[in-house]
Amino acid sequence: MTGQTGPLRRSERLERLLEISRTLSSTLDLAPLLQSIVDVAMELTDSEAASILLYDPASGELRFETLHPSQGTGVGTLSVPLEDSVAGWIFTHTKPMVVQDAARDPRVYRKVDHALHFQTRSLLGLPLRIKAETIGVIEAVNKRGDGHYTEDDLRVLETLAAQAAIAIENARLLSRLQQANAELMRLDRMKSDFIAIASHELRTPLGLILGHATFLKEVIPPDHAEQMDVIIKGSMRLKAIVEDMSTISHKEEGQSRVRRELFSMTKLVIDTVTRFQEAAAEKKIELGYDVPETDPLMIEADRDKIDVALGNLVRNALTFTDAQGQVGLKAEQEGGFVKVFVVDTGIGIPAGEVDRIFDRFYQVESHLTRRHGGMGLGLSIAKAMVEMHNGQIWVESKEGTGSLFCMMLPVNERQASSVARVFRS
Ligand code: ADP
Repeated sequence: MTGQTGPLRRSERLERLLEISRTLSSTLDLAPLLQSIVDVAMELTDSEAASILLYDPASGELRFETLHPSQGTGVGTLSVPLEDSVAGWIFTHTKPMVVQDAARDPRVYRKVDHALHFQTRSLLGLPLRIKAETIGVIEAVNKRGDGHYTEDDLRVLETLAAQAAIAIENARLLSRLQQANAELMRLDRMKSDFIAIASHELRTPLGLILGHATFLKEVIPPDHAEQMDVIIKGSMRLKAIVEDMSTISHKEEGQSRVRRELFSMTKLVIDTVTRFQEAAAEKKIELGYDVPETDPLMIEADRDKIDVALGNLVRNALTFTDAQGQVGLKAEQEGGFVKVFVVDTGIGIPAGEVDRIFDRFYQVESHLTRRHGGMGLGLSIAKAMVEMHNGQIWVESKEGTGSLFCMMLPVNERQASSVARVFRS
């Protein structure tokens, strides 16, 4: 083949290719992207039509993704087999093919022409490849003026095909990512609905069990008191789980509100230590606190929510620390914030897990092998409570040595709003 285009024509083509490569790399919507590739393929090869066929692994065929309108409208589900078709040959051999006289070439797959009421006279086709993978075929059809496809046409279509393949793959990857995201959102919604419904539906029967068991314990003979205690303890555990579930659910539904009141963080820390003293003693863990002697560390926050958050941190510290270990609470003021620390000499958290432990339902140990109870909600609840106050929560930990959790809370609403403003800007 000899080049029919003059030098000017060639430089025009190159310019157009450059221009197009910029458009291709910035278009991530597959349908318009394919359409513009087809339009440019036609223009650069001086063809009456062009088309893109992408390999469909499900059917094992090449499916027409787009055609130039002159070939008819709507590609529907038009496909060509890999055998007995020019596109199939190009795809399987990953080589270009030129058909200068289609009427006499038996390799041309006629069914497509029939379906589209179109007549293929000549054809230039190339594989669309990304690295070692062939994803489809691009074809320019019917050289205008009944001319022949040239070496230049081949080269220019080759360049376009290389860029088009990358652009197509990017658009497909994005579309797959969007689909995966939509699916994740759907599953997340299902999970949230399940939590909301389950916690709501479990609450009433659980209340009844607990109420009646407590009543029965009073009236039945004392030799059954131990069994009643087991029922009551089990129900209390279930109640705590249901409460955690509904806390998460309310937070997600935006039903949780921060009701600020002025209270002493120093006192909350002391009260919390008192509350857990028995549990700590049972496990032979030393539980203590360090708060300023004269400063009540007054803070304007939702006491109940901070109480829940702090309780969850202390419960975890006791859970993940062995006998003879230590757990300590510390509170101090720093500028417009009160910081509360919960430190333990427990098992610590592996470095790779630290970022995930605040996620809902996340637990370091697999739920199949874990020795500790819990649903992986405690820390996500603590995080939600702290963040509702525009505060921050984080952990520093060393596996085998222990952990330090810190909650940092703005002392009042004004401070909280200024934190929110800094985050927004
Ligand atoms: P759970 O109530 O199931 O323990 P959490 O959300 O409270 O769930 O904690 C998530 C996971 O983080 C725990 O299962 C545990 O693996 C890890 N973790 C939390 N606190 C500590 C701690 N103080 N020491 C070691 N690991 C911890």
